[in-house]
Amino acid sequence: MIQQTSVMRICISCRKTYDRKNLLKITKDHKQGIMLQKGMGRSAYICKSKKCYSDSKIKKKLQKALKTTLEPEFFDIFEKEIAIHDSNPNKGI
Ligand SMILES: [Zn+2]
Repeated sequence: MIQQTSVMRICISCRKTYDRKNLLKITKDHKQGIMLQKGMGRSAYICKSKKCYSDSKIKKKLQKALKTTLEPEFFDIFEKEIAIHDSNPNKGI
């Protein structure tokens, strides 16, 4: 039986360590450019706390972490991805 171990990653905003499953992964893919939750290449992680992903400095932090320039279009996609997580019914009202 294979032991399921959780992979820990650091949020680039708050610098706290989280299980990778609970983070948003942004990858600079070698072929396809910037991707969310998939792709192969340099990656950065952001936790799903509003304080982090809506941080005004997050764009700079991401660009620094990925060593690339992010297009404004990326943030449209990013915000939509966040909205999906935000509307998670498990959140509880
Ligand atoms: Zn964070």
